[in-house]
Amino acid sequence: MAELSQKMKELVQPYLASIEPYDPNFTPTSINLSANENTYPVPEGVREAVDAALAATPLNRYPDPMSNDLRDELAAWHGVPREMVCAGNGGDELLYNFLLAFGGRGRTLLNCPPCFSEYAFFASLVETGVHDVWRDPKTFELDCAAVLEAAPSCDLAIVTSPNNPTGDVAPLDFIGKLCEACPGMVMVDEAYIEFADASFGAKTTAQGLIEKYSNIVILHTLSKAFGAAGARCGYVIAAPEVIDVFAAIRQIYSVNVLTQAAALAAVRARDAYAPVVAQVAAERERVKTALEALAAKGLPVEVWPSFGNFLLVRTAHATRVRERLRDEYSILVRDFSYAPGLADCLRITVGTPAENDAVLSALAVLVKEEM
Ligand code: PMP
Repeated sequence: MAELSQKMKELVQPYLASIEPYDPNFTPTSINLSANENTYPVPEGVREAVDAALAATPLNRYPDPMSNDLRDELAAWHGVPREMVCAGNGGDELLYNFLLAFGGRGRTLLNCPPCFSEYAFFASLVETGVHDVWRDPKTFELDCAAVLEAAPSCDLAIVTSPNNPTGDVAPLDFIGKLCEACPGMVMVDEAYIEFADASFGAKTTAQGLIEKYSNIVILHTLSKAFGAAGARCGYVIAAPEVIDVFAAIRQIYSVNVLTQAAALAAVRARDAYAPVVAQVAAERERVKTALEALAAKGLPVEVWPSFGNFLLVRTAHATRVRERLRDEYSILVRDFSYAPGLADCLRITVGTPAENDAVLSALAVLVKEEM
């Protein structure tokens, strides 16, 4: 981005003047495993159901502000009343609303990096301080004791489970203790939870804690398991009065009619996604085992356990490996080398078996050449 002119620097809020636009670093490639999307074909019949719903949706009317039909379907799925659900324009909008409502000037967010960079970004937009409690630099496990120690002096917290980009799941007893220790709201970002459920063969959500703790809010998205990142739909589940706050401060029409219709059709077809999610979880283990085999041969590869649809992989000269994957193999993965704590780390989304084979055979060559 070009430097702001002097005039613009005077016009913009000083605390916003140095913020740079988010750049997902998308480059057109044959295989894109850079953004933790679902790269599998849409389950049979679902695209047709979505298209029929879109075709039946008039565009001349404003959307239902609260997406009530979608809300009812999400509520039925998660076994809660409609009053405990609020939809948004992707999880991102709800993260922003969370910081807007419960953070703000003079307040501090408890953050556990390396984690999703948008938390700190949204905090900065609403003048919220960030208290980082870093994960273990080797295992990337949460430092639960340090988080609980910091919690009483913070005003709100976000825990990611499974965490992006490290892949680990936050223990439920820890989340409960955090809800007790934090005087404000605790968000559990479960963007990748469907993959964790498939990995454990059991429900892993922290949703059950809502009954006990009124300060917990669970974030979900249709961008990952449901393969609907382009449709922009996320939702939160929380106690009704927390949802009332989200409802009050949200942008009225942020979930447009097309998104509401498509999301409703996709969520109705949720059972059709289960085999895809299970296959992604199985493929993730296959890719991890193959990468571990490279390490066993003495190549500089390290890979961490993951319960999401991605793997964090450390190699020698990761930035170079990522560039060569892109330029020589037309495969895009995410380079996290720039991020504190993630030197030489790449995050590779789990794709279809063919995509995974392509990335594995390319890596087998590149990690050797870039040792
Ligand atoms: N939380 C986490 C941990 C994520 O990785 C993402 C997307 N990368 C989101 C939330 C937001 O997803 P979306 O806005 O597409 O719903």
